Amino acid sequence: MTPDQRKVRRKNKAASRLPVDASKLNMGNTYSSAPDFYYDIEFDCIDCGAIEPWSVERQKWRYQEARDYFFATAVRCRSRRAEQRERRRLARSEAGHAPA
Ligand SMILES: [Zn+2]
Repeated sequence: MTPDQRKVRRKNKAASRLPVDASKLNMGNTYSSAPDFYYDIEFDCIDCGAIEPWSVERQKWRYQEARDYFFATAVRCRSRRAEQRERRRLARSEAGHAPA
């Protein structure tokens, strides 16, 4: 368990959950097994400390469609993620790699 995962709080357990399709997950080199369900959770943004909800639909998308490493958890709220994307985009364009 990473420090980031310890900060994640599970909300109402029965309220919202989605089955996990373990065959679509990126589990890396771990021997851990996937849980059966995603649950709505919330976490503290590492930048501003805001409590950010993370819905089961977004978790499923991130892990099964974006194929993000399954044991990586969200750490930034939506507005900080948007700022981060914008900074990266600017850095790329300043380096001359931006698409026209
Ligand atoms: Zn934030």
